[in-house]
Amino acid sequence: MSASIVAIGDELLAGFTLDTNSHWLAERLRLLGFPLLRMSTVRDRESEIVAALRRDIEEPEISEIFCCGGLGPTPDDRTFAAVAVALERELVIEESVRARIENRVIRMYEAGLLDSAELTEGNLRMARIPAGPSEVFRNRRGMAPALLYELEGTRLFVLPGVPLELKGVFAEEIEPRHLAGRTASAVRELRFQFAVEARFYPVLRELEQSHPRVSVGSYPNFETKELVIRCLGQDEKEVAEAAAVVARRMA
Ligand code: AMP
Ligand code: MG
Repeated sequence: MSASIVAIGDELLAGFTLDTNSHWLAERLRLLGFPLLRMSTVRDRESEIVAALRRDIEEPEISEIFCCGGLGPTPDDRTFAAVAVALERELVIEESVRARIENRVIRMYEAGLLDSAELTEGNLRMARIPAGPSEVFRNRRGMAPALLYELEGTRLFVLPGVPLELKGVFAEEIEPRHLAGRTASAVRELRFQFAVEARFYPVLRELEQSHPRVSVGSYPNFETKELVIRCLGQDEKEVAEAAAVVARRMA
């Protein structure tokens, strides 16, 4: 089984913001034993978010979806509304989230950061979530919650876009409770100095046949003049074998 990421935000597609969340999650998920089948990046458009989520929900090989971004207080953030449509659920005020936001607003008011301790429509937006989450995770660094929806064959995690908040809630809440106990994908790397990439064609071609479950990639670095051949797969023995074939053939 595999996982997927759906990163949401106009700023990602317009090239203003680098999608560091997907990169961070991809590495973390590999180390946790949840290899990714795909990453998608979509704009803050409801129909486009719905389409991306539905595509991954309907993909039988994907058992975990991590979507991030678009949970903010302003109308340009539409992820909760889109998740509600994708899951065919109502948007409802989640009381635990509302209470936590209220406490935060009161503390910010007392610290002189806000003019009023009243909840605004923007604040409430972050508490209005698709009904019936299996879990509401605590976000210690911000107001938007993180959520889990358990669907038939798929777990959908909804995460805040602010990188610090996403990392915090993922590492502190989601990882230990929902993603522990698997083994990381196996990785073997071979490094060649001043190697001609084309010379690796025959051996890589052969490995596609002999070790179909190992992904063998060739990654030249033009600054260091180093070529990395990286073998990745779920089976440690198969990955080690594939790497040994490359080492033997290209020695
Ligand atoms: P949002 O959750 O869409 O309100 O985004 C909050 C902040 O996090 C904004 O400054 C975004 O640009 C940033 N952000 C959202 N998604 C990502 C991402 N995938 N990678 C890096 N930063 C992001
Ligand atoms: Mg946004």
